[in-house]
Amino acid sequence: MPAPAPAKPPRKIERALYESVMAPTYAPMSIMPERGEGARLWDADGNVYLDFAAGIAVSALGHAHPELRRVLAEQAGKLWHVSNLLVNAPAIELARRLCDMTFAERVFFANSGAEANEAALKLARRHAQRRFGADKHRIIAFDNAFHGRTFFTVCAGGQKKYSDNFGPKPGGITHLPFNDAGALEAAADDATCAVILELIQGEGGVTPAHPDFVRAARDACDRHNALLIFDEVQTGVGRCGALYLHQKLGVTPDIMTTAKGLGGGLPIGAMLSSAEVAASFEVGAHGSTFGGNPVACAVANRVLEIVGAPEMLEAVRGKGEMLRSGLAAIGRRFGAFAEIRGEGLLLGCALAPDWRGRARDIVAACVRHGLLALVAGPDVLRLAPPLIIGDAEIQEGLKKLEAAIGELARAHESESAAAKQA
Ligand SMILES: *Cc1c(COP(=O)(O)O)cnc(C)c1O
Repeated sequence: MPAPAPAKPPRKIERALYESVMAPTYAPMSIMPERGEGARLWDADGNVYLDFAAGIAVSALGHAHPELRRVLAEQAGKLWHVSNLLVNAPAIELARRLCDMTFAERVFFANSGAEANEAALKLARRHAQRRFGADKHRIIAFDNAFHGRTFFTVCAGGQKKYSDNFGPKPGGITHLPFNDAGALEAAADDATCAVILELIQGEGGVTPAHPDFVRAARDACDRHNALLIFDEVQTGVGRCGALYLHQKLGVTPDIMTTAKGLGGGLPIGAMLSSAEVAASFEVGAHGSTFGGNPVACAVANRVLEIVGAPEMLEAVRGKGEMLRSGLAAIGRRFGAFAEIRGEGLLLGCALAPDWRGRARDIVAACVRHGLLALVAGPDVLRLAPPLIIGDAEIQEGLKKLEAAIGELARAHESESAAAKQA
């Protein structure tokens, strides 16, 4: 059969078309990257951007990493998809690798962080119901948490603006202040089936969980036969200088979720647990058409091999320190930052009172200076460069950030001077 002739001549695809064809859920930047390599992105006009955003802490090995390209091309020539009606070797290998590298004994594959957390919350509910009865269904979560955008996970998250106005919410979720061990000890009871937390609240402001708070969560779960769930979607896969951040803290969860960096840019998520807990997900209890697809799993295997090497994790810690001290110097020069927090290459600059609410302005100024950065709420500038970033690139990015903040500081000064004269 001949291919049908195109109905209309092809139209040029440009940034300006976006708003007329896409649902208005996002407000993306004005640039449109066309290709990437390492820690850099280029647009069609040849403008180059140094990428300290990494697709929101996803592109762990940067863009177009030669090893990932090789693995991807090899797998693309063999097998793309079989569904979970069949097994595939890359998925089994990835599950074995995740078990070898963590506390876990069983893995459930999903396609995103939200789906991994959805699986974790459903498993915790089901496990408690099976072992202790239907009354044990309470989930404890925390203010400002972010666990994804499915309705269950967004309701477990601690920002009402993301979960309101969608009709009746799933019940049985209690939110407590983050880092308040006393509140957690007081609230946890025998009706609690799970406590879910991020070890660093990523979207919520790059706010680290205090080690004592994490231990208190572990103790509270042990006392009440509840499952401790660590959402390591953002903190995992080497981002914080350990393969998973809980390994550095020395507190082991019952369930852990991972996604973002895991696929090096391909969509994949996973939920990890003991064999005993996983047993509550019996045949038919949960599922995903694409979960464990061979292409994403083949790439993720190589990502974990590369990121999991001790030299790599040590390098992340070193680069994190370099970035942190450069940020501190910029903060001092302009009085812009009240605090720099985070671990490894997940760093947040909490803005000083004079700069409150201006994180978005800083990111926009960074783009003008050829640097991509992130916010974590209105008052925190977040930086999450690829883990393969070079020392010289860190220095280059810091210079661009300094220029961007300098530009805003000068504009602010002349505004204040003009206001005084008026
Ligand atoms: C990004 C993120 C999620 C959601 O992941 P998606 O892949 O966007 O569904 C969940 N939890 C944390 C901690 C995250 O940072």
